[in-house]
Amino acid sequence: MLVYGMGEKPLAAIANKLKAGIELSEIKDIPGTVVGLGKNDMDSGLYDKSDFFNLPSFEDVKTSKRSFSVMTKLFHEHFSSRMLQRCGNGAILINQPAAPLTQCEMDAVYELPFVYAPHPGYREKIPAWELVKDSFTVVRGCMGGCNFCGLGIHQGKAVQSRSHESVKREVIRRAATPGWKRIISDIGGPTANMYGLYCEKNAAHLTCKRRSCLAPDPCPYCHTDQSGLAGLIKEIGDMKEVNHLYVNSGIRMDLALLWPAIIDVLAASATGGQMSIAPEHISPKVLRLMNKPENTKWDEFEERLLPQADVREKNSF
Ligand code: SF4
Repeated sequence: MLVYGMGEKPLAAIANKLKAGIELSEIKDIPGTVVGLGKNDMDSGLYDKSDFFNLPSFEDVKTSKRSFSVMTKLFHEHFSSRMLQRCGNGAILINQPAAPLTQCEMDAVYELPFVYAPHPGYREKIPAWELVKDSFTVVRGCMGGCNFCGLGIHQGKAVQSRSHESVKREVIRRAATPGWKRIISDIGGPTANMYGLYCEKNAAHLTCKRRSCLAPDPCPYCHTDQSGLAGLIKEIGDMKEVNHLYVNSGIRMDLALLWPAIIDVLAASATGGQMSIAPEHISPKVLRLMNKPENTKWDEFEERLLPQADVREKNSF
């Protein structure tokens, strides 16, 4: 059995079934898992092809790049269904993704008693640790649906955000750990300005077939008010444990333009001189292939951002 995506819910479900005395080999239906089916399973009549979306077989995709591409496209289109891929006499059963975490669950997961330190087995400096040690994860999932990216598959298309209170409690806990310098290097996740967003139809997890909530045009059901992030930046920045707070996770420009006040907030108080922005290209053809909006968004974004950055620069002298 393979657990895919964010594993909290599948792992808890597996543990509960094992605790109830069910053999691992009998557990086949947990969302967020993939299981191998042998010939006996296939002959049992329990896995009728019509009950699943059927992907091209492993033998097909192994020998044909075209088949592999078709499989990838179908996989993305039917990601919320249970899928079957034949392989020899057996098959791989891909269960639907695990349900996204609620805000309470997100808070509980990120407030587990982490020690915020690398494994003591490491003796030398760890460059990756230096990058993340003062950053806070506040959001997971991505509604962008870019063609080159696996994040929506890995973390889910439904955006899941922590509460302000939970992030504040984490700041207080981390401020009590050795080496805290009162600087938060990042408050974010896959895309910082998706914090607090959601699908007004609650369709992101299972029923919606649209790959992206934002491209080529924003879906009317996509709630794009970014006041949640603006408020979080202000509340955390005002804490006595914090001198500076930055947002270094990526900012989606087209999304920021749907609630432009967030650009002012970021430029005025949460940018340390550089901003990570997406889309990451300007060629219309490449953007189309990436499933990103048109590059005119850059000009609009720059027009809003630069005057803010100028004011900030002047104020800093
Ligand atoms: S209905 Fe719209 S906002 Fe909701 S998941 Fe689908 S594309 Fe996204």
